[in-house]
Amino acid sequence: MLNLQACATVDLNVLDELQAVDDDAKKAEWSRQTNSVKAFKKAVMDHGMAEQDSKCVWCESKLGLEARRSAHRDHIAPKEHYRKWTFLPANIAVACEACNGFTVKSDLDTIAVEAPNYEECDFRVVHPYLDNPVEHIEFVQEEKKVVMVGLSVKGCWTIKNLQLDGTAATARRAFDRILEDNGLSNDQRELINQAMASLL
Ligand SMILES: [Zn+2]
Repeated sequence: MLNLQACATVDLNVLDELQAVDDDAKKAEWSRQTNSVKAFKKAVMDHGMAEQDSKCVWCESKLGLEARRSAHRDHIAPKEHYRKWTFLPANIAVACEACNGFTVKSDLDTIAVEAPNYEECDFRVVHPYLDNPVEHIEFVQEEKKVVMVGLSVKGCWTIKNLQLDGTAATARRAFDRILEDNGLSNDQRELINQAMASLL
C-alpha cells in the first residue's frame, strides 16, 4: 500500500462551488457533467497518477494503458455513507478497478467512529494520507512487492477487507514483476497478459 504525502490541490472557485451543494445532494452531484465536477475529477486524477507513480494506492498494481488496469478515483470513506466528503480531496486516492470495484471496496464502511472533522475520524482502514502504511502493512520481500502481510489491527483489517492478500491481487503483483523482465519473449509476454486478463 502506498504512503501519500499530499492530496490534490483543487482550484478554490471549483471547491467553493462544489462545497455549496447540499450535503445530501453531493453524491448525485458527483455523476453530473458540470464544469466544476469535471475540473475536480481531473485535478484529483492528474495529481493521483503523478503522486502515486501510476500505481493503485491499495494493491500497488500498475495503472494505465500498458498495465491493463484502469485508474479510478476511490473515495476512502465511501460517498454512499459519507456524502459530505464526496468532494474532499483528502478523501480521494487513485485505485485500480479491482480494489475500487463492486466486489471489493465498493461501499465498505472504512470509518469506525465518525468525527465532525474528517482528519479526526477513527478510520478502520489504513489511510494513505493520515497514516504511515509501513507501520501497518509490509511485503514479505520488500524488493519484490508481491505478498502482503499486516503488522497491526488496522493493517490486517485493510488487507482482509480489500482482499490485498487474495489470489487475484497477489498474482497481479507477481505478473507485474515478471513483466518487468526485459528478457521475456513476445510469446511469454502474451501468455502472461492472457493470464492477467483472466484475473480481473
Ligand atoms: Zn488495486
